[in-house]
Amino acid sequence: MTYDGPDNADQARLLRLLRDDGPRSRVELGDAAGLSRARLVAEVDRLVALGLVETAGPAASRGGRRSSLLRIAGAVRFAGITIGPREIDVAVTDGELSVLARRREPVDVRLGPEATIARTLELLGKVRANLGLGRLTGVGVALPAPVAFREGAPVSPPALPGWHGYGVRDALAAELGCPVLVDNDANVMALGEQHAGTGRAFDDFLYVKLGTAIGCGLVLGGALHRGATSGAGGIAHLRQSDDGPTCACGETGCLEAYCSDEALVREALAAVEDGRSPVLAARLAEAGALTVADVGRATVAGDPAAQTLVRDAARRLGRVLVGLVNFVNPGIVIIGGTAVGLGPTMLAEIRSVVYRRSPPLATGNLPIVLSDLDDTAGVVGAARLASDDVFGAS
Ligand SMILES: [Zn+2]
Repeated sequence: MTYDGPDNADQARLLRLLRDDGPRSRVELGDAAGLSRARLVAEVDRLVALGLVETAGPAASRGGRRSSLLRIAGAVRFAGITIGPREIDVAVTDGELSVLARRREPVDVRLGPEATIARTLELLGKVRANLGLGRLTGVGVALPAPVAFREGAPVSPPALPGWHGYGVRDALAAELGCPVLVDNDANVMALGEQHAGTGRAFDDFLYVKLGTAIGCGLVLGGALHRGATSGAGGIAHLRQSDDGPTCACGETGCLEAYCSDEALVREALAAVEDGRSPVLAARLAEAGALTVADVGRATVAGDPAAQTLVRDAARRLGRVLVGLVNFVNPGIVIIGGTAVGLGPTMLAEIRSVVYRRSPPLATGNLPIVLSDLDDTAGVVGAARLASDDVFGAS
């Protein structure tokens, strides 16, 4: 069976309604889509013939009238994949993007794209075998890198040495025989928030992704905004000072060089060196190295040096956000990707800076929150990326 996409914008809208809101009766679906009864019947018949929609059990009946529910067909299956600097995360979802099975494995992306893609396919193969799944409807992939969206390839990615220009989309599509979409991880996680997180209730929001690399996904008017050359949201290398720490990109003083996990660890080591943090010094002596999780634990434990370095990083991020929220005027700012223990301290400092430094029109009712998704924003967002393409009007 092939999965031809919808024929027209009405069919695309019906598919997205069923994906986002779950099974509906014909009447409800027709009302939500604003279609006449005759038109709805014709479009639904076509979607059933395409294998994209099916009839579920009967809806609750009243007064003897029975109507059946429509839903995305059970044969529709998406894969959401995130390739991180240290881990591959693969999930297969149903047509409503609920995760059916998931596996994660450590990876060293410095081995290059061919080896990493081969590992990814192997892992996806295991997940499909567990589910007894034949064909995939579409696959979405998040990379920790700037991605030329139309080409499906990373562009000068500091976190992915040797991957520049590599056709990740084409390599995977050739193996899998279905549509494959590739995007930057911050964009993909913003889509995850839009589908299953706090972002669901907002048409305009910013998703700020922290961690090893920093990025920002912009959802404007209900759609992800990539910009003219898919570079929108690239806040990582905004220069904060001329003589700051060296960044992974080779420049100095970038936001990421102050706020990434690696930057926090660097500052933590400096605090140990200066004798400012007995807590982190003890951890270093015990483990032989410090991680961002250690910084998080020290922050939660009330270590003043750890709290100060986390607040310093958050303040810089907050200053950048002042510019962004005034320019974009989002309905909410969602912060994700922070290591365990760091979120509340970072959030408090970011809020303080943004609310103090912004005029009331942009921030009067602006919530700034931590993501309420656990670590599923990436895989769900990647599945959403694929579904947006497959459920788009051709
Ligand atoms: Zn940089």
